[in-house]
Amino acid sequence: MRRAVCPGSFDPVTNGHIDIVQRAARMFDEVVVAVGVNTSKNRLFTPEERIAMLEDACAGFANVSVAGFSGLLTDFCAQNGIQAIVKGLRAVSDFDYELQMAQMNASLADVETVFVPTSPEYSFLASSLVKEVAMFGGDVSALVPPNVHRQLTERLAQRS
Ligand code: ADP
Repeated sequence: MRRAVCPGSFDPVTNGHIDIVQRAARMFDEVVVAVGVNTSKNRLFTPEERIAMLEDACAGFANVSVAGFSGLLTDFCAQNGIQAIVKGLRAVSDFDYELQMAQMNASLADVETVFVPTSPEYSFLASSLVKEVAMFGGDVSALVPPNVHRQLTERLAQRS
């Protein structure tokens, strides 16, 4: 059984994430989308909300599940029988950090990192940018799943 993890903050999940998850699901028998629940970063959505939005967005993929994780990703992999970490690469700017992370993870555990190049139509997409554009009234409906767009609009309306 080949099992992979797609880790991230997913605050919130975008169509770029979903594209990577879907492609990972074609390469591996099982894919776990692991939502980092560490409290270090300033988040718009709670871990429970981020997990629920992902579960909804991934409902159509039979071999994909969603889980929260804290602490080291390599520990999560060991605990869940995961052999590979799948990361999306958007630009060269992603590569520096992701290479460092992949090498660090390989030094910590017997886990392989697989880089998947972003689809061109998503190469500019980042959760932080989606939030910023939405905050100033920009239309992000084509960039995130419909359930995320709904919740994003509601959350930002509460805040203003
Ligand atoms: P974090 O906030 O932990 O950096 P994200 O939740 O933003 O992570 O993203 C998780 C993973 O998804 C990262 O590997 C990132 O490179 C990848 N990713 C994010 N956006 C895209 C995109 N538009 N296309 C491809 N991969 C992406």
